[in-house]
Amino acid sequence: MLRMQPFHSEYPKTIEEATALLSQHGASAKICAGGTDLLPNLKHELLTPQFVISLSRVASLRGILVSENTISIGAMTTLEQIVKDKDIQRFAPSLCDAASHVAGPQLKSMGTLGGNLCLDTRCLYYNQTYFWREALGFCLKKDGTTCHVTQTGKKCVAAASNDTATILLCLDASVDILNQDGIRQIKLKDFYLGDGIKNNILKPNDLLVTVHVPKRTTSPLKRLEGFAKLRHRESIDFPMLSIGVRFDIDAQEKIAFSLVTINALFARPKTIQTDWLIGQPLTSSTIAQLGQYAKDRCTPLTNICDDPTWRKEMIAVHIKKACEKALETTP
Ligand SMILES: Cc1cc2nc3c(=O)[nH]c(=O)nc-3n(C[C@H](O)[C@H](O)[C@H](O)COP(=O)(O)OP(=O)(O)OC[C@H]3O[C@@H](n4cnc5c(N)ncnc54)[C@H](O)[C@@H]3O)c2cc1C
Ligand code: SF4
Repeated sequence: MLRMQPFHSEYPKTIEEATALLSQHGASAKICAGGTDLLPNLKHELLTPQFVISLSRVASLRGILVSENTISIGAMTTLEQIVKDKDIQRFAPSLCDAASHVAGPQLKSMGTLGGNLCLDTRCLYYNQTYFWREALGFCLKKDGTTCHVTQTGKKCVAAASNDTATILLCLDASVDILNQDGIRQIKLKDFYLGDGIKNNILKPNDLLVTVHVPKRTTSPLKRLEGFAKLRHRESIDFPMLSIGVRFDIDAQEKIAFSLVTINALFARPKTIQTDWLIGQPLTSSTIAQLGQYAKDRCTPLTNICDDPTWRKEMIAVHIKKACEKALETTP
């Protein structure tokens, strides 16, 4: 049985109390939202914080607010709540789909949107017990000096594996980040870093409080959006690939804007610009071209189970699936 190292637990009831505790404890504290990723990581001794600050009693971090152009989702809103929410189903259906593909039912009822966006990167050589990692001599991300994936020892390439980030990047979402100095809003595209050791911009005293998602439009541009995921077991597993597509279609049924995001390949979700699609209709031919184009720009690594060559082939297959969903859910 894996035992957690001892730590002090803190249970703030307000956002102010939470940020004060983060400011006080700094890098010796970790935030716990649903705990579905944090707790296994504590058991594996990937993290050994002195303080764990639970957000479970901060009621104001939960909830979904719909305004004229935006859906604002509190960081502690669970993935299950997102999947079931009628407004999100209507105005950002691909987010419901992505949330529904995270882990399994129990984990979705505890796991939160904030926790999913701030999820640690993953790697076959890292998400293991202390003894397993010790036997291999540890690695660059924790306690060691070399990377077993690249063999160069210079850079960690553990993979971002958070499914909601994939689609929220396509939808041009923003996040509110709070600390004792105040609140700042940043685009999700500026949130992630290409460093597998720490792949987001959050500082130890930062708290992600809200996620803002632009609502789907129907005119003058019609937003089509779709999500697809490759994983071992449909019922629970982390992604081997997670794909989001978004097309804004004009009155002549031509693409005016498009974006593809691919996750679970690199430390940061990869966004592929597809301006060459502008002015074309979204047909089976353009979808096939898009699949090939994206595939040519990705090189899966050996940090996730399964053959990288096969995962590369699956990129075009899953882009097609995501596009088909986008067409099926046309507003
Ligand atoms: C068996 C299994 C399968 C899984 N499958 C998937 C999957 O398919 N797809 C997927 O995306 N995930 C998967 N997960 C990971 C996890 O369950 C989800 O990502 C979940 O959404 C994490 O949310 P949480 O609230 O539990 O986060 P926590 O575990 O509480 O926190 C995760 C990280 O985010 C930080 N954090 C949390 N909230 C905030 C905040 N508001 N501000 C700043 N930092 C914060 C924490 O400090 C921690 O570092 C799986 C986990 C397990 C155990
Ligand atoms: S990519 Fe390399 S350094 Fe990063 S977790 Fe995996 S083995 Fe460790």
